[in-house]
Amino acid sequence: MSQPQVIYEKGELLYEGKAKRLYKVVGHDDLIWQEFKDSLTAFNAQKKGSFEDKGAINREICGILYTSLEKAGVPTHRVALQSVNAEVTRRLSMVKLELVVRNVLAGSTAKKFAIEEGRALSRPLVEFYYKDDALADPFVSDDQAIMIGAAQSQVELNELKQFALRVNEVLCAVMVRAGLRLIDFKIEVGRDSQGRLVLGDEISPDTCRLWDEKSGEKLDKDRFRRDLGGVREAYMDVLQRLKQTQVG
Ligand code: UDP
Repeated sequence: MSQPQVIYEKGELLYEGKAKRLYKVVGHDDLIWQEFKDSLTAFNAQKKGSFEDKGAINREICGILYTSLEKAGVPTHRVALQSVNAEVTRRLSMVKLELVVRNVLAGSTAKKFAIEEGRALSRPLVEFYYKDDALADPFVSDDQAIMIGAAQSQVELNELKQFALRVNEVLCAVMVRAGLRLIDFKIEVGRDSQGRLVLGDEISPDTCRLWDEKSGEKLDKDRFRRDLGGVREAYMDVLQRLKQTQVG
């Protein structure tokens, strides 16, 4: 994504989420102005916090990752950077599922099966969660996803899984270069006007688990969820490492 060629004007607020504010773009119904906020939430927003420049740090991390994904042929919603914490993106018809990919067991799935965190999986696991804040985004099976209308068919679910696995391949390669292990992550996807799947939302330490490859130190939102301290330092560390992978 290059610096803006076209001048875009921020329109009225469409929606304020936990980590972003979405605005209209004046004169462009097909675009959205997305601002990354400094707030941090966990456990379906029951736990709240924030830190200075968090929006800008996450926007920059996401920018580096989306550039790598675009280079690898994964389409993303980005159109033009507007400021340190804002960008114009394509308006997509969002799939009502969160796609989670796991390389190593941690978090909710480790807990569900009473397996200690850190067990590497022989192949990546893809899971679907139904996007509904009131229901706290429940896990859904493939058949449940179709029953609830979040997907039309098993063919569509398979397409979503393949997309998520491709994102995983690219991200794993980037993280290895940064000395990080990609434990798991969540993505949100939508369809453009041609029906093509496009990566939306963000990928950042808010939405990934990242462990230092040598020490195993957690460098993601678990520092906030689990009161481990050093949240801003961890996010900055991830950003610096990713920036270094871009040099040379
Ligand atoms: N995740 C996310 N948003 C959510 C739920 C999960 O970004 O609403 C990310 C989370 O940061 C982790 C991965 O998806 O990297 C898997 O999360 P998990 O299901 O283990 O849930 P958690 O233990 O974080 O509640």
